[in-house]
Amino acid sequence: MTSEPPEAAALEAAPSDEIFERVARPRRAAPADAVRPTRAEINLANLRHNLFTLERALGLPRRRASAAPPRDGHAAAAPASDTQVWGVLKADAYGHGAPAVARTLERAGIGGLCVALLEEAIELREAGIRAPILVMGGYYGPRRAGLEEVLVHRLTPVIYDRGHIEKLVHIARAAGRGPIPVHLKVDTGMGRLGADSESLEGIIDALREHRAEIDVRGSMTHLACADGEDVESTHAQLRAFDDANARMRAGGLAPTVRHAANSAAAVRFAGSRFDAVRPGIALFGYKPWSGAREPVAEAAMVALRPVMKVRTEIVAVRTVPDGGRVGYGHRFIARGPRRVATVAMGYADGLSRSLGGHGEVLVRGRRAPFAGVISMDLTAIDVTDVQGADVGDEVVLLGAQDGPHGSDAISAEEIAAHTGTIAWEVLTSISRRVPRFYREP
Ligand SMILES: *Cc1c(COP(=O)(O)O)cnc(C)c1O
Repeated sequence: MTSEPPEAAALEAAPSDEIFERVARPRRAAPADAVRPTRAEINLANLRHNLFTLERALGLPRRRASAAPPRDGHAAAAPASDTQVWGVLKADAYGHGAPAVARTLERAGIGGLCVALLEEAIELREAGIRAPILVMGGYYGPRRAGLEEVLVHRLTPVIYDRGHIEKLVHIARAAGRGPIPVHLKVDTGMGRLGADSESLEGIIDALREHRAEIDVRGSMTHLACADGEDVESTHAQLRAFDDANARMRAGGLAPTVRHAANSAAAVRFAGSRFDAVRPGIALFGYKPWSGAREPVAEAAMVALRPVMKVRTEIVAVRTVPDGGRVGYGHRFIARGPRRVATVAMGYADGLSRSLGGHGEVLVRGRRAPFAGVISMDLTAIDVTDVQGADVGDEVVLLGAQDGPHGSDAISAEEIAAHTGTIAWEVLTSISRRVPRFYREP
């Protein structure tokens, strides 16, 4: 593992007294604060396993063996390419806690990390992460003052417009320093961010003119439909990206880290891998599409292991007589005598209110349905069919459980299917009130 990010040397002269704004860090409940038995358990061994699973699926050699953690039992794949994996850790690493996730991936030899927000990147640097960090969102605050912070923290900014270029030129000149490394984002069909085909020529010209201040080390684009059944639009975006890179080369820019692929593209489209891929969801153990895709892609993803488990405990149990009612609006009405347990988790913890009446949890290795509506802090479940369920029993809302009545698991996809969303939203919804506990089994 390299001990310094490649940008470090060039950025030493960054002006720390010219910072206009300090970026506040989000605060989340810490394990030491936890009184409630509600928590998210993050399995870092599974995270590492998923990184290696992805690397194998892409045919990548295992890099930096000396820094690698204990072998996970799989032979290294044959060296096939120099593509790097840059893990996407935006939104607090999809709810898993970005600093611990970053540390684990860094030790496992990941090529780099990507975040959406400057705040997220600074959180990682302050946690001691030294790997290259790409700030993808392109938003650097009023007057783009945040680009100063980018330098101070040795981050790599994504840029795509003249405002970015002007500010970087100003910063580089004021600091009397060499070119600032950036990645240029091009819009090849997502239609959200990046230089589009028309503006690209002007941006390339401006960047060539300012080669003394800005070093376009990378180029990127984002794919809109890489998980979908329609593969043609992805191929069209990849052709547009090839074209954009050719225009950059013709314009005197030579980005050496070209990247386009999210998890789905990295696995399904060999032509999307370029010099780096940007997986997010697959690192956290979920297949990046719903339904079935190409058999090879499906086979590559079956080995993924979910990294997050969310658990709480039963805090009260009562027997509800026939016709008895439970919860807000008395939405649960007992048909025959029922045993109803109250658990210490609610929608303020990220348990979607629309699971009421649909979803299930695990108790003693068996499924139990929600009873009535999910409220802010507490939720009732029907444990009539779970022999022996009692106060203090573990309740799993997401993830696997082994119990006296069996073994089962609830996936983020299952929850997403009930609530009409996607696994990404289920994971990122687990709120900061739920402390993250890290397991390294
Ligand atoms: C979120 C994101 C990714 C990762 O996407 P997954 O589908 O989670 O793999 C990659 N690139 C960009 C620009 C993103 O915003």
